[in-house]
Amino acid sequence: SKPIVAIVGRPNVGKSTFFNYLAGKRISIVEDTPGVTRDRIYTEVEWRNRKFTLIDTGGIEPYSEDKIMKQMKNQAEIAIETADVIIFMVDMKDGLTASDREVATMLRKSKKPIILAVNKVDKVGELPAEVYEFYNLGMDNLMPISSIHGLGVGDLLDEVFKYF
Ligand code: GDP
Ligand code: MG
Repeated sequence: SKPIVAIVGRPNVGKSTFFNYLAGKRISIVEDTPGVTRDRIYTEVEWRNRKFTLIDTGGIEPYSEDKIMKQMKNQAEIAIETADVIIFMVDMKDGLTASDREVATMLRKSKKPIILAVNKVDKVGELPAEVYEFYNLGMDNLMPISSIHGLGVGDLLDEVFKYF
C-alpha cells in the first residue's frame, strides 16, 4: 500500500493550505479562525511518478482545555500513529511558540520520521533570519515553504520521499 504522510501542527500555521495546494483543489477548509479542520482529511498525491496518501489534521493546541480542541488532538494522534512520515508545520510569521514546543515533544515520542516545514516564507531568495529560530526545536530536517505560493514544496516532498 501507499505510504502515509500526516501534516501536524498547532492551528493556523497553514496545514490545510498546504494540503489543498497538493490536492490541487480546496478540499480542506482554510480559515483565519484557528482549528477549523475538524476531521482527518485524505488525498492521494503524486510527485515525480510516486504516490502517497496525505492526511490533513485539525490543529493541536496542547494547552487548550476546550472540548473541540481535545477532539482534534485525538484526531491528530491517530493520524500520527498511522503515518510513515510526519510533516510538522510551524509559522514563520508567528515565530516559535510554546505550543510548537509542546507539539514537538509529542511528535518526538512517536519515533516517526519528522520533517519540520517552516511555512509562510513567501519570498524567494535569502532565508529570513526568523527561520533559524526554529532550529531550537532540535529537528535537523528543516524546510522553508510557502503553502500559498507553493514555494519550496517540491524540495520538501523530495525530503519526504527519502523516508519511504
Ligand atoms: P491550519 O489551521 O494550519 O489548517 O491553517 P490554514 O491552512 O487554515 O491557514 C491559516 C491562515 O494562514 C489562512 O489565513 C491562510 O491563508 C494563511 N496561510 C497559509 N499558508 C500561508 C503561506 O504560505 N503564506 C501566508 N502569508 N499565509 C498563509
Ligand atoms: Mg486546517
